[in-house]
Amino acid sequence: MATTPIVRFAPSPTGEIHVGNARTALYNWFFTKSAGGTFILRYDDTDQARSTDAFADQIAADLAWLGIHPDRVERQPARANQYDAAAKKLKDAGLLYPCYETGEELDRQRARQRARGRPPVYDRRALNQTDAERGALEAEGRTAHWRFFLPNFSDDPFQPQRTERKWDDLFRGAQHIDLASMSDPVLIRQDGSFLYTLPSVVDDIDMGVTHVIRGDDHVTNTGAQIALFEALGAQPPTFGHHNLLQDEQGEGLSKRKKALSIRALQDAGYEQLAVATFATLIGTAVAVQPLATTDALQALFDPQSVNKAPARFSESELAHLNTRLLAQMNFADVADRLKAIGIDGGEPFWLAVRPNMQRLADARGWWDIVTGSISADIDADDVNFLQTAARLLPEGEPDSDTWKAWTGAIRDETGRKGKPLFMPLRLALTGLSSGPELAQLLPLIGRPRTLARLSAHGRAEN
Ligand code: GLU
Repeated sequence: MATTPIVRFAPSPTGEIHVGNARTALYNWFFTKSAGGTFILRYDDTDQARSTDAFADQIAADLAWLGIHPDRVERQPARANQYDAAAKKLKDAGLLYPCYETGEELDRQRARQRARGRPPVYDRRALNQTDAERGALEAEGRTAHWRFFLPNFSDDPFQPQRTERKWDDLFRGAQHIDLASMSDPVLIRQDGSFLYTLPSVVDDIDMGVTHVIRGDDHVTNTGAQIALFEALGAQPPTFGHHNLLQDEQGEGLSKRKKALSIRALQDAGYEQLAVATFATLIGTAVAVQPLATTDALQALFDPQSVNKAPARFSESELAHLNTRLLAQMNFADVADRLKAIGIDGGEPFWLAVRPNMQRLADARGWWDIVTGSISADIDADDVNFLQTAARLLPEGEPDSDTWKAWTGAIRDETGRKGKPLFMPLRLALTGLSSGPELAQLLPLIGRPRTLARLSAHGRAEN
Protein backbone atom coordinates (compact mmCIF):
# COMPACT_ATOMS: atom_id res chain seq x y z
CA MET A 1 0.00 0.00 0.00
CA ALA A 2 1.28 3.43 -0.87
CA THR A 3 2.16 5.57 2.15
CA THR A 4 0.35 8.83 2.71
CA PRO A 5 2.76 11.55 1.57
CA ILE A 6 4.47 13.99 3.88
CA VAL A 7 6.11 16.81 1.94
CA ARG A 8 7.90 19.96 2.92
CA PHE A 9 8.38 23.32 1.28
CA ALA A 10 11.67 24.63 2.64
CA PRO A 11 12.32 28.30 1.79
CA SER A 12 14.99 30.26 3.56
CA PRO A 13 13.38 33.41 4.98
CA THR A 14 15.98 35.69 3.43
CA GLY A 15 13.64 37.48 1.02
CA GLU A 16 10.21 37.42 -0.54
CA ILE A 17 9.29 34.24 -2.39
CA HIS A 18 8.97 34.59 -6.15
CA VAL A 19 6.80 32.91 -8.71
CA GLY A 20 9.37 30.08 -9.10
CA ASN A 21 9.22 29.36 -5.36
CA ALA A 22 5.44 29.43 -5.66
CA ARG A 23 5.71 26.73 -8.34
CA THR A 24 7.65 24.51 -5.89
CA ALA A 25 5.19 25.21 -3.08
CA LEU A 26 2.15 24.53 -5.25
CA TYR A 27 3.62 21.34 -6.67
CA ASN A 28 4.23 20.07 -3.13
CA TRP A 29 0.76 21.16 -2.05
CA PHE A 30 -1.07 19.57 -4.99
CA PHE A 31 0.99 16.41 -4.78
CA THR A 32 0.30 15.83 -1.11
CA LYS A 33 -3.29 17.05 -0.98
CA SER A 34 -4.39 14.90 -3.91
CA ALA A 35 -3.32 11.91 -1.78
CA GLY A 36 -4.64 13.15 1.57
CA GLY A 37 -1.11 13.89 2.78
CA THR A 38 0.63 16.47 4.95
CA PHE A 39 2.36 19.71 3.95
CA ILE A 40 5.10 21.06 6.20
CA LEU A 41 6.29 24.63 5.82
CA ARG A 42 9.87 24.37 6.97
CA TYR A 43 11.93 27.50 7.15
CA ASP A 44 15.48 26.67 6.13
CA ASP A 45 16.90 29.34 8.38
CA THR A 46 20.26 28.05 9.53
CA ASP A 47 21.62 31.23 7.97
CA GLN A 48 20.75 33.35 10.98
CA ALA A 49 22.48 36.42 9.68
CA ARG A 50 20.24 36.77 6.63
CA SER A 51 16.98 35.20 7.89
CA THR A 52 14.31 37.42 9.40
CA ASP A 53 10.96 36.87 11.11
CA ALA A 54 9.45 39.48 8.83
CA PHE A 55 10.37 37.45 5.73
CA ALA A 56 9.10 34.26 7.40
CA ASP A 57 5.75 35.95 8.10
CA GLN A 58 5.59 37.30 4.57
CA ILE A 59 6.23 33.83 3.14
CA ALA A 60 3.38 32.38 5.24
CA ALA A 61 1.09 35.19 4.06
CA ASP A 62 2.08 34.66 0.42
CA LEU A 63 1.40 30.93 0.69
CA ALA A 64 -2.00 31.62 2.27
CA TRP A 65 -2.80 33.99 -0.59
CA LEU A 66 -1.91 31.22 -3.05
CA GLY A 67 -4.31 28.87 -1.23
CA ILE A 68 -1.65 26.90 0.65
CA HIS A 69 -2.36 26.28 4.32
CA PRO A 70 0.47 24.27 5.90
CA ASP A 71 -0.42 21.47 8.28
CA ARG A 72 2.74 22.11 10.24
CA VAL A 73 5.37 24.86 10.49
CA GLU A 74 8.94 24.17 11.56
CA ARG A 75 11.92 26.40 12.17
CA GLN A 76 15.45 25.11 12.19
CA PRO A 77 17.03 27.10 15.05
CA ALA A 78 14.72 25.23 17.45
CA ARG A 79 16.28 21.97 16.31
CA ALA A 80 19.99 22.69 16.84
CA ASN A 81 20.35 19.74 19.25
CA GLN A 82 19.23 17.29 16.60
CA TYR A 83 21.78 18.64 14.11
CA ASP A 84 24.55 18.48 16.71
CA ALA A 85 23.59 14.88 17.51
CA ALA A 86 23.66 13.91 13.83
CA ALA A 87 27.04 15.61 13.37
CA LYS A 88 28.41 13.71 16.37
CA LYS A 89 27.10 10.45 14.98
CA LEU A 90 28.87 11.11 11.69
CA LYS A 91 32.09 12.19 13.41
CA ASP A 92 32.06 9.10 15.61
CA ALA A 93 31.67 6.97 12.50
CA GLY A 94 34.60 8.76 10.87
CA LEU A 95 32.27 10.16 8.19
CA LEU A 96 32.78 13.82 9.01
CA TYR A 97 36.36 15.07 8.94
CA PRO A 98 37.98 18.40 9.77
CA CYS A 99 39.65 20.50 7.07
CA TYR A 100 41.64 23.68 7.61
CA GLU A 101 42.14 25.09 4.13
CA THR A 102 41.21 28.72 3.63
CA GLY A 103 38.96 29.79 0.79
CA GLU A 104 41.99 31.11 -1.14
CA GLU A 105 43.87 27.85 -0.71
CA LEU A 106 40.91 25.92 -2.06
CA ASP A 107 40.62 28.33 -4.99
CA ARG A 108 44.29 27.77 -5.83
CA GLN A 109 43.88 23.98 -5.64
CA ARG A 110 40.93 24.11 -8.00
CA ALA A 111 42.75 26.39 -10.42
CA ARG A 112 45.70 23.92 -10.51
CA GLN A 113 43.33 21.00 -11.15
CA ARG A 114 41.62 22.85 -13.98
CA ALA A 115 44.98 23.76 -15.49
CA ARG A 116 45.81 20.05 -15.61
CA GLY A 117 42.46 19.28 -17.20
CA ARG A 118 41.12 17.60 -14.08
CA PRO A 119 37.73 18.21 -12.50
CA PRO A 120 37.99 20.58 -9.50
CA VAL A 121 37.12 17.93 -6.94
CA TYR A 122 38.52 18.22 -3.40
CA ASP A 123 41.43 15.78 -3.11
CA ARG A 124 40.92 14.91 0.56
CA ARG A 125 44.38 16.03 1.55
CA ALA A 126 43.09 16.94 5.04
CA LEU A 127 42.60 13.22 5.70
CA ASN A 128 46.39 12.83 5.70
CA GLN A 129 46.94 15.40 8.40
CA THR A 130 48.12 14.14 11.79
CA ASP A 131 46.67 15.33 15.05
CA ALA A 132 49.88 17.27 15.62
CA GLU A 133 49.50 19.07 12.29
CA ARG A 134 45.90 19.91 13.10
CA GLY A 135 46.97 21.18 16.51
CA ALA A 136 49.56 23.40 14.87
CA LEU A 137 46.98 24.83 12.46
CA GLU A 138 44.65 25.55 15.36
CA ALA A 139 47.48 27.20 17.25
CA GLU A 140 47.88 29.46 14.18
CA GLY A 141 44.29 30.54 14.79
CA ARG A 142 42.61 28.41 12.15
CA THR A 143 39.37 26.57 12.86
CA ALA A 144 38.13 23.53 11.00
CA HIS A 145 35.27 23.24 8.56
CA TRP A 146 33.89 19.73 8.29
CA ARG A 147 33.38 17.61 5.19
CA PHE A 148 31.18 14.57 4.74
CA PHE A 149 33.21 11.56 3.60
CA LEU A 150 31.41 10.33 0.48
CA PRO A 151 31.33 6.53 0.08
CA ASN A 152 32.92 6.60 -3.38
CA PHE A 153 35.95 4.27 -3.07
CA SER A 154 36.67 0.66 -2.18
CA ASP A 155 39.99 0.63 -0.29
CA ASP A 156 41.79 3.86 -0.97
CA PRO A 157 39.90 7.14 -0.36
CA PHE A 158 42.42 8.90 -2.61
CA GLN A 159 41.33 6.72 -5.52
CA PRO A 160 37.60 7.40 -5.87
CA GLN A 161 35.78 5.02 -8.15
CA ARG A 162 32.56 5.41 -10.06
CA THR A 163 29.85 4.99 -7.41
CA GLU A 164 26.34 5.70 -8.59
CA ARG A 165 23.36 6.69 -6.57
CA LYS A 166 20.16 6.21 -8.54
CA TRP A 167 16.64 7.37 -7.99
CA ASP A 168 13.41 7.38 -9.87
CA ASP A 169 12.57 11.07 -10.05
CA LEU A 170 8.88 12.01 -9.96
CA PHE A 171 9.45 14.56 -12.73
CA ARG A 172 12.58 13.43 -14.56
CA GLY A 173 12.36 9.63 -14.45
CA ALA A 174 15.50 7.53 -13.89
CA GLN A 175 18.40 9.63 -12.58
CA HIS A 176 21.90 8.80 -11.45
CA ILE A 177 24.76 10.75 -9.95
CA ASP A 178 28.33 9.51 -9.68
CA LEU A 179 29.60 10.21 -6.17
CA ALA A 180 33.17 10.11 -7.51
CA SER A 181 32.44 13.20 -9.60
CA MET A 182 31.95 15.50 -6.63
CA SER A 183 33.80 16.92 -3.66
CA ASP A 184 33.03 15.75 -0.17
CA PRO A 185 30.45 18.36 0.77
CA VAL A 186 31.16 20.80 3.58
CA LEU A 187 28.45 20.29 6.21
CA ILE A 188 29.78 22.60 8.95
CA ARG A 189 31.37 25.99 8.32
CA GLN A 190 34.46 27.06 10.16
CA ASP A 191 32.39 29.26 12.46
CA GLY A 192 30.60 26.07 13.55
CA SER A 193 27.32 26.84 11.75
CA PHE A 194 25.64 24.25 9.54
CA LEU A 195 25.23 24.65 5.83
CA TYR A 196 21.83 23.68 4.41
CA THR A 197 22.62 20.01 3.65
CA LEU A 198 22.80 18.26 7.02
CA PRO A 199 19.91 20.05 8.78
CA SER A 200 17.77 19.46 5.70
CA VAL A 201 18.45 15.71 5.72
CA VAL A 202 18.07 15.45 9.51
CA ASP A 203 14.74 17.29 9.31
CA ASP A 204 13.54 15.12 6.44
CA ILE A 205 14.35 12.03 8.51
CA ASP A 206 12.85 13.27 11.80
CA MET A 207 9.74 14.69 10.15
CA GLY A 208 9.10 11.51 8.19
CA VAL A 209 9.23 13.33 4.85
CA THR A 210 8.28 10.84 2.14
CA HIS A 211 8.70 13.04 -0.95
CA VAL A 212 11.17 15.84 -1.57
CA ILE A 213 9.80 18.01 -4.38
CA ARG A 214 11.99 20.96 -5.36
CA GLY A 215 13.66 22.76 -8.25
CA ASP A 216 16.06 20.92 -10.54
CA ASP A 217 18.94 23.11 -9.33
CA HIS A 218 19.12 20.51 -6.52
CA VAL A 219 19.59 17.46 -8.77
CA THR A 220 23.34 17.31 -8.20
CA ASN A 221 22.91 17.69 -4.43
CA THR A 222 20.72 14.63 -4.39
CA GLY A 223 23.53 12.08 -4.76
CA ALA A 224 25.33 13.36 -1.65
CA GLN A 225 22.04 13.71 0.20
CA ILE A 226 21.11 10.09 -0.52
CA ALA A 227 24.54 9.07 0.84
CA LEU A 228 23.86 11.18 3.93
CA PHE A 229 20.47 9.52 4.52
CA GLU A 230 22.25 6.18 4.30
CA ALA A 231 25.04 7.29 6.65
CA LEU A 232 22.42 8.32 9.21
CA GLY A 233 20.75 4.94 8.88
CA ALA A 234 17.64 6.22 7.11
CA GLN A 235 15.79 5.30 3.96
CA PRO A 236 16.02 8.20 1.45
CA PRO A 237 12.69 9.76 0.45
CA THR A 238 11.36 9.81 -3.09
CA PHE A 239 12.76 12.80 -4.97
CA GLY A 240 11.13 15.00 -7.57
CA HIS A 241 12.93 17.85 -9.36
CA HIS A 242 10.91 20.19 -11.51
CA ASN A 243 12.18 22.64 -14.11
CA LEU A 244 12.93 26.19 -13.00
CA LEU A 245 11.37 29.42 -14.16
CA GLN A 246 13.36 32.16 -15.80
CA ASP A 247 12.58 35.83 -16.15
CA GLU A 248 11.81 37.48 -19.47
CA GLN A 249 15.52 37.91 -20.17
CA GLY A 250 16.08 34.18 -19.68
CA GLU A 251 17.80 34.62 -16.32
CA GLY A 252 17.12 32.62 -13.18
CA LEU A 253 14.76 34.10 -10.61
CA SER A 254 16.15 35.08 -7.27
CA LYS A 255 14.69 36.40 -4.06
CA ARG A 256 16.78 39.50 -4.56
CA LYS A 257 14.94 40.49 -7.75
CA LYS A 258 11.73 41.64 -6.25
CA ALA A 259 9.83 42.23 -9.48
CA LEU A 260 8.45 38.70 -9.70
CA SER A 261 7.86 38.25 -5.99
CA ILE A 262 4.43 36.94 -5.10
CA ARG A 263 3.83 40.08 -3.14
CA ALA A 264 4.72 42.32 -6.10
CA LEU A 265 2.36 40.36 -8.37
CA GLN A 266 -0.37 40.60 -5.73
CA ASP A 267 0.24 44.34 -5.35
CA ALA A 268 0.08 44.70 -9.13
CA GLY A 269 -3.50 43.45 -8.86
CA TYR A 270 -3.21 39.98 -10.35
CA GLU A 271 -5.75 37.42 -9.21
CA GLN A 272 -4.54 34.73 -6.84
CA LEU A 273 -5.80 32.04 -9.17
CA ALA A 274 -4.14 33.62 -12.20
CA VAL A 275 -0.75 33.64 -10.45
CA ALA A 276 -1.21 30.09 -9.09
CA THR A 277 -2.35 28.79 -12.47
CA PHE A 278 0.47 30.47 -14.30
CA ALA A 279 3.10 29.26 -11.80
CA THR A 280 1.74 25.73 -12.08
CA LEU A 281 1.11 25.33 -15.78
CA ILE A 282 3.80 27.24 -17.67
CA GLY A 283 6.53 24.95 -18.90
CA THR A 284 4.23 21.92 -18.90
CA ALA A 285 2.29 20.04 -21.57
CA VAL A 286 -0.98 21.40 -20.16
CA ALA A 287 -2.23 24.67 -21.70
CA VAL A 288 -2.37 27.73 -19.46
CA GLN A 289 -6.10 28.32 -19.05
CA PRO A 290 -8.54 30.23 -16.86
CA LEU A 291 -9.94 27.94 -14.17
CA ALA A 292 -12.75 28.40 -11.70
CA THR A 293 -11.05 27.07 -8.57
CA THR A 294 -7.74 25.98 -7.07
CA ASP A 295 -9.21 22.45 -6.94
CA ALA A 296 -9.57 22.51 -10.72
CA LEU A 297 -5.93 23.53 -10.94
CA GLN A 298 -4.92 20.72 -8.60
CA ALA A 299 -6.72 18.26 -10.87
CA LEU A 300 -4.57 19.41 -13.81
CA PHE A 301 -1.27 19.02 -11.97
CA ASP A 302 0.71 16.04 -13.22
CA PRO A 303 4.48 15.71 -12.64
CA GLN A 304 4.74 13.71 -15.87
CA SER A 305 3.51 16.67 -17.90
CA VAL A 306 6.22 19.05 -16.66
CA ASN A 307 8.88 19.88 -19.25
CA LYS A 308 12.57 19.29 -18.60
CA ALA A 309 13.69 22.62 -20.05
CA PRO A 310 13.32 25.84 -18.03
CA ALA A 311 10.12 27.79 -18.54
CA ARG A 312 10.11 31.49 -19.21
CA PHE A 313 7.83 33.74 -17.20
CA SER A 314 6.11 36.41 -19.26
CA GLU A 315 4.17 39.11 -17.51
CA SER A 316 2.12 39.86 -20.62
CA GLU A 317 0.97 36.23 -20.70
CA LEU A 318 0.07 36.43 -17.02
CA ALA A 319 -1.87 39.64 -17.72
CA HIS A 320 -3.69 37.92 -20.57
CA LEU A 321 -4.61 34.99 -18.32
CA ASN A 322 -5.78 37.44 -15.65
CA THR A 323 -8.11 39.12 -18.15
CA ARG A 324 -9.54 35.78 -19.27
CA LEU A 325 -9.99 34.67 -15.68
CA LEU A 326 -11.83 37.86 -14.65
CA ALA A 327 -14.10 37.53 -17.68
CA GLN A 328 -15.49 34.27 -16.34
CA MET A 329 -15.57 34.98 -12.62
CA ASN A 330 -18.91 34.73 -10.86
CA PHE A 331 -20.36 37.67 -9.01
CA ALA A 332 -20.36 35.68 -5.76
CA ASP A 333 -16.57 35.34 -6.02
CA VAL A 334 -15.99 39.08 -6.27
CA ALA A 335 -18.94 40.63 -4.42
CA ASP A 336 -17.03 41.40 -1.23
CA ARG A 337 -14.05 42.81 -3.07
CA LEU A 338 -16.27 45.06 -5.21
CA LYS A 339 -17.99 46.32 -2.09
CA ALA A 340 -14.60 47.02 -0.53
CA ILE A 341 -13.76 49.39 -3.41
CA GLY A 342 -17.08 51.17 -3.08
CA ILE A 343 -19.09 49.46 -5.82
CA ASP A 344 -22.65 48.35 -5.15
CA GLY A 345 -23.85 47.66 -8.67
CA GLY A 346 -24.74 44.06 -7.89
CA GLU A 347 -24.54 41.21 -10.36
CA PRO A 348 -25.77 43.14 -13.44
CA PHE A 349 -22.87 45.57 -13.12
CA TRP A 350 -20.34 42.76 -12.71
CA LEU A 351 -21.68 40.81 -15.69
CA ALA A 352 -21.56 43.97 -17.81
CA VAL A 353 -17.98 44.94 -17.03
CA ARG A 354 -16.15 41.66 -16.39
CA PRO A 355 -15.11 41.14 -20.04
CA ASN A 356 -13.45 44.56 -20.03
CA MET A 357 -10.94 44.31 -17.22
CA GLN A 358 -7.29 43.63 -16.84
CA ARG A 359 -7.43 43.92 -13.05
CA LEU A 360 -10.36 43.73 -10.69
CA ALA A 361 -9.60 47.30 -9.62
CA ASP A 362 -10.54 48.43 -13.15
CA ALA A 363 -14.17 47.85 -12.10
CA ARG A 364 -13.88 51.09 -10.16
CA GLY A 365 -13.29 53.05 -13.37
CA TRP A 366 -16.38 51.54 -15.00
CA TRP A 367 -18.38 52.22 -11.87
CA ASP A 368 -17.40 55.88 -12.04
CA ILE A 369 -18.44 55.95 -15.67
CA VAL A 370 -21.82 54.43 -14.84
CA THR A 371 -22.57 56.53 -11.78
CA GLY A 372 -20.36 59.60 -11.91
CA SER A 373 -19.93 62.42 -14.34
CA ILE A 374 -18.23 61.88 -17.67
CA SER A 375 -16.94 64.13 -20.36
CA ALA A 376 -17.34 63.20 -24.00
CA ASP A 377 -15.82 64.60 -27.14
CA ILE A 378 -18.81 64.72 -29.50
CA ASP A 379 -18.65 65.60 -33.19
CA ALA A 380 -20.74 68.64 -34.13
CA ASP A 381 -22.48 66.49 -36.77
CA ASP A 382 -23.79 64.19 -34.08
CA VAL A 383 -25.42 66.74 -31.80
CA ASN A 384 -28.79 66.63 -33.51
CA PHE A 385 -28.56 62.87 -33.83
CA LEU A 386 -28.14 62.60 -30.05
CA GLN A 387 -31.12 64.87 -29.50
CA THR A 388 -33.19 62.61 -31.71
CA ALA A 389 -31.93 59.62 -29.76
CA ALA A 390 -32.97 61.28 -26.50
CA ARG A 391 -36.46 61.86 -27.87
CA LEU A 392 -36.74 58.21 -28.93
CA LEU A 393 -35.55 56.69 -25.63
CA PRO A 394 -38.40 54.35 -24.59
CA GLU A 395 -40.45 55.45 -21.60
CA GLY A 396 -39.64 54.11 -18.14
CA GLU A 397 -36.42 52.78 -16.65
CA PRO A 398 -34.33 50.91 -19.25
CA ASP A 399 -34.04 47.15 -18.92
CA SER A 400 -32.07 44.54 -20.81
CA ASP A 401 -34.33 44.81 -23.90
CA THR A 402 -34.33 48.58 -24.11
CA TRP A 403 -31.10 48.99 -26.08
CA LYS A 404 -32.29 46.87 -29.00
CA ALA A 405 -35.70 48.55 -29.22
CA TRP A 406 -34.19 52.01 -28.82
CA THR A 407 -31.44 51.69 -31.42
CA GLY A 408 -33.96 50.06 -33.80
CA ALA A 409 -36.16 53.13 -33.47
CA ILE A 410 -33.19 55.50 -33.96
CA ARG A 411 -32.08 53.58 -37.04
CA ASP A 412 -35.58 53.74 -38.54
CA GLU A 413 -35.85 57.47 -38.01
CA THR A 414 -32.29 58.60 -38.91
CA GLY A 415 -31.35 55.94 -41.45
CA ARG A 416 -28.00 55.47 -39.62
CA LYS A 417 -26.68 52.02 -38.95
CA GLY A 418 -23.41 50.37 -37.84
CA LYS A 419 -20.69 52.59 -36.48
CA PRO A 420 -22.33 55.99 -37.25
CA LEU A 421 -25.33 54.78 -35.25
CA PHE A 422 -23.54 53.23 -32.28
CA MET A 423 -20.35 55.24 -31.84
CA PRO A 424 -21.93 58.62 -30.99
CA LEU A 425 -24.19 56.86 -28.49
CA ARG A 426 -21.27 55.06 -26.89
CA LEU A 427 -19.23 58.26 -26.72
CA ALA A 428 -22.11 60.27 -25.27
CA LEU A 429 -23.03 57.62 -22.70
CA THR A 430 -19.56 56.55 -21.55
CA GLY A 431 -17.07 59.14 -22.82
CA LEU A 432 -15.11 56.29 -24.39
CA SER A 433 -14.99 54.70 -27.82
CA SER A 434 -14.93 51.13 -26.48
CA GLY A 435 -16.07 49.25 -23.43
CA PRO A 436 -18.76 46.95 -22.09
CA GLU A 437 -21.93 46.12 -24.01
CA LEU A 438 -24.19 49.18 -24.03
CA ALA A 439 -27.26 46.94 -23.79
CA GLN A 440 -25.99 45.94 -20.34
CA LEU A 441 -24.74 49.38 -19.32
CA LEU A 442 -27.91 51.27 -20.21
CA PRO A 443 -30.03 49.88 -17.33
CA LEU A 444 -27.15 50.65 -14.97
CA ILE A 445 -26.75 54.24 -16.19
CA GLY A 446 -30.51 54.67 -15.89
CA ARG A 447 -32.92 56.99 -17.65
CA PRO A 448 -32.17 60.35 -16.01
CA ARG A 449 -28.41 60.09 -16.56
CA THR A 450 -28.89 58.78 -20.09
CA LEU A 451 -31.07 61.75 -21.05
CA ALA A 452 -28.69 64.19 -19.38
CA ARG A 453 -25.68 62.75 -21.19
CA LEU A 454 -27.42 62.82 -24.58
CA SER A 455 -28.56 66.40 -24.24
CA ALA A 456 -25.44 67.82 -22.58
CA HIS A 457 -23.83 68.27 -25.97
CA GLY A 458 -26.96 69.67 -27.57
CA ARG A 459 -27.13 72.41 -24.95
CA ALA A 460 -23.50 73.26 -25.40
CA GLU A 461 -24.08 73.69 -29.12
CA ASN A 462 -27.17 75.78 -28.74
N1 GLU B 1 16.19 26.04 1.11
C1 GLU B 1 16.40 25.22 -0.06
C2 GLU B 1 16.00 26.03 -1.28
O1 GLU B 1 15.19 26.93 -1.15
C3 GLU B 1 15.55 23.97 0.03
C4 GLU B 1 15.95 22.93 -0.91
C5 GLU B 1 15.22 21.65 -0.63
O2 GLU B 1 14.00 21.64 -0.84
O3 GLU B 1 15.83 20.70 -0.19
O4 GLU B 1 16.49 25.82 -2.36
